[in-house]
Amino acid sequence: MAEKILIVEDNSQNMRVIQMALRRLGYTFLEASDGEAGMAAAIQEKPDLIIMDVQLPKMDGLEITRRLREMPEFSQVPIIAITAYAMKGDMERALAVGCDAYLTKPINTRELPKVIVELLANRQNNPRQQRE
Ligand code: MN
Repeated sequence: MAEKILIVEDNSQNMRVIQMALRRLGYTFLEASDGEAGMAAAIQEKPDLIIMDVQLPKMDGLEITRRLREMPEFSQVPIIAITAYAMKGDMERALAVGCDAYLTKPINTRELPKVIVELLANRQNNPRQQRE
């Protein structure tokens, strides 16, 4: 079965760019366009990986990540933070709340698929991280 990737992104153009960058990889995409919807979709759909915009209406991406990481079922789900306003300390903050990777906009459409493939492969190769 295709791996499910949840994309939490309030900018519809970025949402399209992300999906275009990944279209050859055969994933199933789930979309959420604000923080609360993203949180709800994560819990309901249990995606294999989450692409998380940091600047979101209602709840920002780092807060969602922090909350998800408190749940055992989300302790190992790869989360990639994406931000448009990269400032000093942003990457450290993203990693501190539990993001596995941190990318800046504009989205690098060659780098994104590589990062995702690598994160999913690492998860599958590590028995401690396997989920039911
Ligand atoms: Mn945004």
